Amino acid sequence: MKRKGILVIVSGFSGAGKGTLMKRLMEMHGEQYALSVSMTTRQPRPGEQEGISYFFVDTETFEKTIGENGLIEYASYCDNYYGTPRKYVEDMLEQGKDVILEIEIQGALKVKEQYPDALLLFVMAPSAEELKRRLVGRGTETEEVIRKRLIRASEEAEGIPAYDAVVINDDLDTCTEELHQMIRSAHYAVSRNLSFIDTMQNELKELAKGE
Ligand code: ADP
Ligand code: 5GP
Repeated sequence: MKRKGILVIVSGFSGAGKGTLMKRLMEMHGEQYALSVSMTTRQPRPGEQEGISYFFVDTETFEKTIGENGLIEYASYCDNYYGTPRKYVEDMLEQGKDVILEIEIQGALKVKEQYPDALLLFVMAPSAEELKRRLVGRGTETEEVIRKRLIRASEEAEGIPAYDAVVINDDLDTCTEELHQMIRSAHYAVSRNLSFIDTMQNELKELAKGE
């Protein structure tokens, strides 16, 4: 039986540690996962690499890609566009990989409409105070941007009930393994094995006829 890939959405407030977790997950278990690289109109942070962190584009290119139906979803977040290129996700799922989208909540809900079987995980820092400490400590945003992101976090918190599970990123390695185990377990869900179950039911019926 061909293994079917699961589409996994990882969301969380800015500064919760999503990017750090995804990097660790790929280091530990990269053979199983395909991490989607998003397109964005935001400026690169120091150290971010084109095609690895994001595809950094201008607004015109982004809107052109929307027009060509090249994105599975897109959203506006704190004055910039972010979107998920379609082709990579479709190709990797086809190859049986678990595809990870590290995206915000509006996009997550749009993906869920198209892929009802998607697994939605929400990453949180251990406390709001620690979240702010991490966001400030990262040192990549101005005070004004940090303020906007924290306001956005408080709005996003309202959407958490749409997710399947919440993970607390306290110790990085523990949280990485928790994410990995959740994704592994999701493969066993009845809802993700309907075609195998159907085949087995039909085979059993045939077998019963012969008895
Ligand atoms: P996000 O992608 O969710 O915005 P980042 O991965 O950039 O967050 O992490 C924000 C900051 O928090 C970074 O400086 C990162 O090094 C730090 N960080 C991430 N995970 C942890 C953790 N488990 N414990 C302490 N600091 C962490
Ligand atoms: P950042 O600017 O910190 O890299 O990302 C800001 C927010 O945009 C984060 O919540 C991140 O998960 C989200 N994001 C990144 N890529 C995408 C995407 O392709 N689509 C959507 N909807 N959100 C994204």
